[in-house]
Amino acid sequence: MGNLEDAVAVVTGAGRGMGRAIAEELGSAGARVVVNYSRSKEPAEEVVENLSGNGAGRAVAIGADVSKADEAQKLIEETLERFGRIDVLVNNAGITIDRTMRKLTTDEWDRVVQVDLNSCYYTVKAALPRFMEQESGSVVNISSFVGQAGNFGQTNYSAAKAGIIGFTKSAAQELARYNVTVNAICPGFIETDMFAVVPEEVKDRIRKRIPLGRIGEPGDVARAVRFLVEDGDYITGQTINVNGGIYMQ
Ligand code: NAD
Repeated sequence: MGNLEDAVAVVTGAGRGMGRAIAEELGSAGARVVVNYSRSKEPAEEVVENLSGNGAGRAVAIGADVSKADEAQKLIEETLERFGRIDVLVNNAGITIDRTMRKLTTDEWDRVVQVDLNSCYYTVKAALPRFMEQESGSVVNISSFVGQAGNFGQTNYSAAKAGIIGFTKSAAQELARYNVTVNAICPGFIETDMFAVVPEEVKDRIRKRIPLGRIGEPGDVARAVRFLVEDGDYITGQTINVNGGIYMQ
C-alpha cells in the first residue's frame, strides 16, 4: 500500500486495548478508521474523538457483535456506506474463558470459538466482494502465541487462535489473485484488560520467561500491524510473532 493516506481501515473490538492502539496507529498514519465495538459505545466514541485531531469525519464508531454473521455483514455495509471503500481489515476482537477442560462447558468452548475464530471468517467473507472489485486490500488477523504453543486452561482459546493461523494461510492463497494480502499477528503477553486479570505473582513469573524481560505494550502490536499494511505488499499468508521472544518458531 505504501501510504495509508485516505485508506479506509476497519478495526474490530477497537474500544480498548490492542484494538484501540491499532485504530490510533492507523489513524495517525493517515487512514480513515472504523472503530468497531460490540457493547460499550462510549470508549469507542472516545477513540473517534482522539482521532478527530486528524480531521473531522475521518473516524467513526460502528456497533456490531462480530461473532454474529449478520452483524459482521452490517459492519462492512455501514463502512462502505460511510466511506465507499475498505482497504484494511483488522480482526482484533477476542475473548477468553479460561478453564481446564475438566471444568469447561460446551457453551464456553463454543463462545470463544465463535468470537475469536468465526468472526474472522464472517468479516472477511462480508468484505470479499469489495476487495475483489477493488483488486486491493490487506487483512490482519490477531491470533496469539497461545495458538502456537498451547496453554494450560486455554483449550478453547488456543484452538480458536490456531484456527486463525490456518484460516489466514488459506485465505491468503485464495485472495492473492485479487492483490489482497492476509496475515496473522501472534502477540505474546500484552498489557491490556485481558492480561490485567492475571495475579501479580503470576505476572512476575511470566516476565522472567520473556527473553526481552518485559510484558508487551499494545503499541508494540499496533506498529507491527502498521508495518504489514503500509509496507507489507509482498508479505502474505505469514504469521508475525510480536512476543518478546517468549515463543520462537
Ligand atoms: P481486550 O479484552 O482489552 O479487548 C478485546 C476487545 O474485543 C474489547 O474491546 C471487546 O469489547 C472486543 N470484543 C469482544 N467480543 C467482541 C465481539 N463479539 N464483537 C466485537 N468486539 C468484541 O483484549 P486485548 O488484549 O486488547 O485483545 C485484543 C486481541 O489480542 C484479542 O483477539 C486477543 O485474543 C489478542 N491477544 C491478546 C493478548 C494479551 O496478552 N492481551 C495476547 C495475545 C493475543
